[in-house]
Amino acid sequence: MIYHHIALNTILPPLTYSHTAEIPLGSRVLVKLRGKTQIGIVWANQVQADIDVNKILPIIQVFDDFRLPENWRELIQFTSRYYHYPVGQTVFTALPSLLKENKAIELPEAPTFYTLNAVGKTQTPPPKNHAKKLAIWHALLSGSLNLAALKKIHPKARDFIQEYEQLGWLESSTLATPPIPPSQHILNAEQAAAAAAVKSHLFEYKTFLLHGITGSGKTEVYFDIMADVLARGKQVLFLLPEINLTPQLLTRVAQRFPDMPTAVLHSQTAAGARGRDYLRAMLGQAKLVIGTRLSVFTPMADLGLVVVDEEHDNSFKQDNELRYHARDLAVWRARQAACPIVLGSATPSLETWHKAQSGAYQLLTLSNRANELAQLPEISVLDVRRVPLDNGFSPQVLQLLKENFKNGGLSLVYLNRRGFAPALFCADCGHTFGCPNCSAKMVLHQRARQLRCHHCDFRQPVPHSCAECGNQDLTAVGQGTQRVEETLKNALPHAKIARVDRDSTSRKTDWADLYAQIAANELDVLVGTQMLAKGHDFARLNLVVVLNADGSLFSSDFRAPERLFAELMQVSGRAGRAEHRGRVLIQTRLPEHEIFQAIKAQDFVLFAEHELAQRQLFNLPPFGFQAAIRADALKMSEAIDFLNEIRDVIAPLLPKNVWQMGAVAMLMARLAERERAQIFVESADRAALHRALGLWEQVLAQYRDGKIRWHIDVDYQEM
Ligand code: ADP
Ligand code: ZN
Repeated sequence: MIYHHIALNTILPPLTYSHTAEIPLGSRVLVKLRGKTQIGIVWANQVQADIDVNKILPIIQVFDDFRLPENWRELIQFTSRYYHYPVGQTVFTALPSLLKENKAIELPEAPTFYTLNAVGKTQTPPPKNHAKKLAIWHALLSGSLNLAALKKIHPKARDFIQEYEQLGWLESSTLATPPIPPSQHILNAEQAAAAAAVKSHLFEYKTFLLHGITGSGKTEVYFDIMADVLARGKQVLFLLPEINLTPQLLTRVAQRFPDMPTAVLHSQTAAGARGRDYLRAMLGQAKLVIGTRLSVFTPMADLGLVVVDEEHDNSFKQDNELRYHARDLAVWRARQAACPIVLGSATPSLETWHKAQSGAYQLLTLSNRANELAQLPEISVLDVRRVPLDNGFSPQVLQLLKENFKNGGLSLVYLNRRGFAPALFCADCGHTFGCPNCSAKMVLHQRARQLRCHHCDFRQPVPHSCAECGNQDLTAVGQGTQRVEETLKNALPHAKIARVDRDSTSRKTDWADLYAQIAANELDVLVGTQMLAKGHDFARLNLVVVLNADGSLFSSDFRAPERLFAELMQVSGRAGRAEHRGRVLIQTRLPEHEIFQAIKAQDFVLFAEHELAQRQLFNLPPFGFQAAIRADALKMSEAIDFLNEIRDVIAPLLPKNVWQMGAVAMLMARLAERERAQIFVESADRAALHRALGLWEQVLAQYRDGKIRWHIDVDYQEM
């Protein structure tokens, strides 16, 4: 008997099963677990029997259709270890459902590509009066094409192929790369320099940050590098946020790489298609894999380049179950494959920016819009400290909206969606109350008359006056935009107003409808959250107003200003992308805040420098590493006590350079009838942090009864 470890969809480590012969690693097999037949992946073979051999169950069936490759298994192993998530469940998160079925799979057949061979090339071309036949001939002469592509040239392509094949003039292959037509654009000097920098490192691991404002031509730079990599027969993995995977982008890809075998993987892809594309990528048939975060787990036969567009986008971090960050895993994959990776953004994450500053990543900058006609919008900041607001609107903003409507413009009213905890602030000098220990903004607890830090649990009574200027008129802020639509309807009774949020745009067709309405001039005002900020081009949009930006600056989540800056730059990028210059107006009670200086100047670098200096003071990422341990229970006190008890058990074993805070309520303290708490574990030493998390994992593993649920979130993105 030969013993194997099989990874199964369970929290248990890979379990031991026997078979009469050795089964290759990565094979799919059927086994019984608790009486039920399950599919599993061979994770180790030739292992020692670690329990009584009479209790080891046999493997029921071995599928020899294909094996998951070694580099894929390494990726899964790393992901499991880094995010402290069971290997088996990591495997089953990364597999498409087709591969989880208890049956053999028919592998997709690769299309055949044809080109003229040495003999064929010396033949006389067909006469000029056979124009289409001649076109096919030239196509075959210049590269490899499959039948589908040849039929686009001439429907009778199959006949010619048969004829030439019989004459012995053709070379055929299943993994060839079709020729790539030249780009319609000539890259400008900055674009060309950026592309050249990456192309001079095509055969080694190197991370590049492509920093360029919206419309600066980043996509054209990616395409240029991709063309080089694809022409060498290698594969490209192109990751982007769900919301940016628009029909427009896919059309651009199809125009630039018309006959390239491409796999598109996102949450809406039908299960069957996703499974097939996964296999096509694994077998090297699909050359270009485009997808959202989950596609970072696609096995690739010959990865030659990774691109992560909008690398700062939060949707790359999964916030349930396996809490991985696809951008970070993408960097790991590029290193594994010894190929370059390009991270692109107008507002890079501060983690990435910091690495580009320190030289760990190479910074490439595009400083102008590629299309000179599209001017940058004019951004102004409106001080509303002493202005009476009507459901969040200042009179000046309402007036602007009215004028724009009268002139036939399209306006966007942008809401900062995130539910911020209430905070205290001085209406006179704009002072806010930060935690003395850790820079987080203190959250106002009205009933307890306390300010509390939701990071380290420091508490203090609500102060009676401003610590800065002595003013006794302290204001609670945190909401005030619930009735935006009603207010708008009253102010603009004849305008057509559309709300755009997660509910109204959950389906693909919803976006298409919205686009059609905008294109047909059927809408005058859009009201929405950051859903609207990303990746969507509304040519007519020429006025953006931001009502409640301040919430982010009062947030106890240290990443809130970073997100606000990115969203405001993005939403501004929406204004005036076509001929006319757009206007952006931001209401604030903190007009002197550094973030607004940077926003007005549309200067990411200024923002990043200020924000990084703040982070460094308190050892926050990227200067330190963090994880959150979270627990939820029916009552908050149960969740808090649970975490604090384990914290005390672990304390004596904790590496010296690791800090554990006290358990605190999460910002969104209640969800689905459960109350949620968390504890932060932090260190400047990543390895030490992971040792500490290993301790937590061991203790937590004993609590699986469901009364208290817990998870570990490494590099958490939202508090
Ligand atoms: P980004 O990805 O940075 O938002 P894009 O690559 O989408 O920018 O480019 C913005 C617009 O400018 C697109 O319409 C694109 O076709 C055009 N563009 C990009 N590069 C060039 C160029 N070198 N010459 C002419 N037009 C360009
Ligand atoms: Zn604190």
